[in-house]
Amino acid sequence: METITKLIPFTGEISILEISYLVASVLFILGLKKLSHPATARSGNLWAAAGMTAAILFTILFHKKDGEPIGNIVWIVVALAIGSFIGWYASKKVKMTAMPQMVSIFNGMGGACAALISMMEFPKMQNMLAAEGASHMIGGEGIAILLGLMIGGVSFAGSMIAFGKLDGRIGDIKNPVLRIINLTFLVLLLVALVVILFMKPEAGNNWPIYLFALAALVYGVTFVMPIGGADMPVVISLLNSFTGVAAAMGGFLYSNQAMLTGGILVGSSGTILTILMCNAMNRSLLNVIVGAFGVAGAGGTEAADKTVKEISLSDAAVLLSYSQKVYIVPGYGLAVAQAQHLCHELDNLLSGKGVEVKYAIHPVAGRMPGHMNVLLAEADVPYEKLVEMEDANNEMGNTDVVIVIGANDVVNPAAEDDPGSPIYGMPIIKVLDARNIIVMKRSMAAGYAAIPNNLFYHQKNRMLFGDAKATLQKLVAEIKSL
Ligand code: NDP
Repeated sequence: METITKLIPFTGEISILEISYLVASVLFILGLKKLSHPATARSGNLWAAAGMTAAILFTILFHKKDGEPIGNIVWIVVALAIGSFIGWYASKKVKMTAMPQMVSIFNGMGGACAALISMMEFPKMQNMLAAEGASHMIGGEGIAILLGLMIGGVSFAGSMIAFGKLDGRIGDIKNPVLRIINLTFLVLLLVALVVILFMKPEAGNNWPIYLFALAALVYGVTFVMPIGGADMPVVISLLNSFTGVAAAMGGFLYSNQAMLTGGILVGSSGTILTILMCNAMNRSLLNVIVGAFGVAGAGGTEAADKTVKEISLSDAAVLLSYSQKVYIVPGYGLAVAQAQHLCHELDNLLSGKGVEVKYAIHPVAGRMPGHMNVLLAEADVPYEKLVEMEDANNEMGNTDVVIVIGANDVVNPAAEDDPGSPIYGMPIIKVLDARNIIVMKRSMAAGYAAIPNNLFYHQKNRMLFGDAKATLQKLVAEIKSL
């Protein structure tokens, strides 16, 4: 018992605060673990939120500065109430297809918070060092403040541009010169950071930090501006990891373990997510940042002289009803049409007729990782029916019909047979191995990568044109009437 007391020194309120941070950190980690599976993701979110609530509450109640409890309680409560209401309202109202935009705004706010903390702390640190007669600002605190400001500022400005691009409010500026300017800017920003650290502290002399903040914001804008709008989900994930690192700097500054753990978790998971997204598209991060993905007309073999076969609703209904095995390949269009419930109804109807129905899930189908899993879970599609790409590809050979619903790039054979295509090398769902293919989409328009898809002209494929929701509605009715 004595050893335990030595290990955990209970010295009143500070210990309670530290223990609450430990509990919050454990809740963050468990929450994150639960987020990795659709079945537990909702509760994972709640666990992490509980951890954050505990950290905030215990800080308000038990944090002391120079022996005094924290002040400005009314301001803090009002800010919390406003922030919570906006967050709750935005999450309730947001459409599934606008989720990346919302993530981008929320991420930007995190970056802004980290940058503001640095802006507040720099003058205090400088005044203190000036009073001590220090000759420079080199030290852990100075480095954490400046890195927090730089990374947080870049993340905030970059996320706002990413939001504008995703929402169609800001176009791309594709000028190779901008990339050279960017690289120079980044080097200058790092040099400025070192110069500020070497400056002699002077009380009230805050202009270097304001200029540095401005430069970080400008760099955030110019960093994201040349990246194709289509690559924004990857960029947001990257900026998300920046925000995590910036928040961790705040945790380091305040010796706040919950903030530190939270920041490190966001930073590392954002980095892992970025790498996974790049791997799933078979592209390097550098290629995402300087590449030309998503630019109309980029690569792809045109198929102007080829003919497209269509299938009637009644033929599709008969083909599906008398199949043994059907694979559904959902894509971004399913989310746009909000046709997930009808998709599940079609699945139930066919399963009732003894057809084996499964879903082939491509890791980057849709516009964010796990997009299809979340969408289908919303329609209560049993998780066991969702088959990962590799396993689904192994089963394609004995599949009677593949129905591609609002997917395009993730089934584009150019990824396998056209070395000139921007998506060459990206793993795809090999729908061509199945006996029959039905593609449901509204037109012959390209998908995210803005390249043509020769699958639509293949002899095995027949198009069922129209909005996925309307088409599925008619198809379900047709099957019912058989
Ligand atoms: P795509 O963007 O390739 O294609 C979606 C298709 O859906 C379009 O061709 C469109 O054709 C169709 N569509 C749109 N609205 C509707 C509707 N209402 N009804 C029916 N069809 C509709 O989507 P995929 O899911 O196949 O591929 C995802 C792409 O996003 C990949 O290139 C991937 O690399 C990229 N990406 C994905 C990320 C992720 O994390 N998931 C992140 C970053 C990038 P039409 O207009 O003719 O209807």
